[in-house]
Amino acid sequence: MKLVPILTLAALLFSTSISATELEPFPVQKIANNTYVIHGPLEQPNKTNKGFMNNPGFVVTKTGVVVIDPGSSVQVGRMLLTQIRTVTKKPVTHVLNTHIHGDHWLGNQAFSEAFPQVVIMAHPDMIRRAKAGEAEQWVSIMSKATEGESDGTRAVIPNKAITDKQILKIDGVQFRIHAPKKAHSFTDIMIEVIEESVVFLGDNVLYKRLPRMGDGTFKGNATACQLAIDLNAKMYVPGHGPSGDKNIITPFMNYLKIIYREVGKNYEAGMTDFEMKPNVIAKLQDYVNWSGFKQQVGKHISLAVLEYEADSF
Ligand SMILES: [Zn+2]
Repeated sequence: MKLVPILTLAALLFSTSISATELEPFPVQKIANNTYVIHGPLEQPNKTNKGFMNNPGFVVTKTGVVVIDPGSSVQVGRMLLTQIRTVTKKPVTHVLNTHIHGDHWLGNQAFSEAFPQVVIMAHPDMIRRAKAGEAEQWVSIMSKATEGESDGTRAVIPNKAITDKQILKIDGVQFRIHAPKKAHSFTDIMIEVIEESVVFLGDNVLYKRLPRMGDGTFKGNATACQLAIDLNAKMYVPGHGPSGDKNIITPFMNYLKIIYREVGKNYEAGMTDFEMKPNVIAKLQDYVNWSGFKQQVGKHISLAVLEYEADSF
C-alpha cells in the first residue's frame, strides 16, 4: 500500500531535481488546515543558502494548490515544488507574488515549467516595473550574491494583475487582496486567506530581520502593519522570519515608528543623519540582534531623514 506514494515521490524527485545547484529541502510547516509555509534562512542571500531567504507558502484547495512567493531562484522554486509533493499531488493552479523584490518571485520559473497553464498574479505596478527592467536586475543581483548558484534562473513575470480589495475565489477558497499604497515597495499586496484566517504579509512585516527600505516609506509601512493587525487573523506569515499571531507584527511596526519619530526629533535639533545615528540607535536596543541590523540601520536613518524632510514641506 505504501509503495506507490514512495515510488511517485521518487519519480518526482528525479524529474524535478537537476544539477549541482540543487537546494537541500527545507522543512514544511503546517500553519492552518490547508496552509503550509517553508520558513527560509534569515541571512542575506549567499553561496551556501543559494539565495533562499524568504517564506514561500502554499494553500491546498479542493483540486489544486495556490503558491505564494516561491523564492529567489528556479532552484528554490524546484525545492518548494518537491516539498509541496510531500503534502499533496494536486497541480499548482496559481502563484501569487507579494511584490517586486526578486527574492520573493524568481522561483516562478519552476512552476511555469511544471504547470504551463499556471496563472501568476501580482500588483499591476509590480508587473510594470518587472517588465521595465527590474526583473533582469534581480536575476543579476541574485547571481552575484550567490556566486552563480542561482544561475539558470530566468524571470517569469506574473501574467495577471490583482488589485486592492479584490477577492479571488479559487476552487472554494477566498483570497482577499490588501494593497497598501506606500508601504514596503509601492508594489505590495498582502494576501488574506479568509477560510484559513491566515495573512501573508509580504515584506510589509518582517520578524527578527530588517528589510531594505530604499523602495518604501516608514510612515506608509507602519500604516500597513496596523492594517494587518486590524484584520484580526489567527496566523500571520511575514516576508522573512517566523510566523505567528498578530504579536509578530508589533515589533516591526514599532521599529518603523521609532526610527521616524527619533529621526524627526534629531532633525529638528539641527543634526545630520550621521550625527544623530548614536541617538537613534540608543532607542533601538530591542532590535540590535535582529538579522541585518548593523547593515541596515544607518541606511534606514538616512532614508528616514529624506522622508521626514519631504513630509515637512
Ligand atoms: Zn522586499
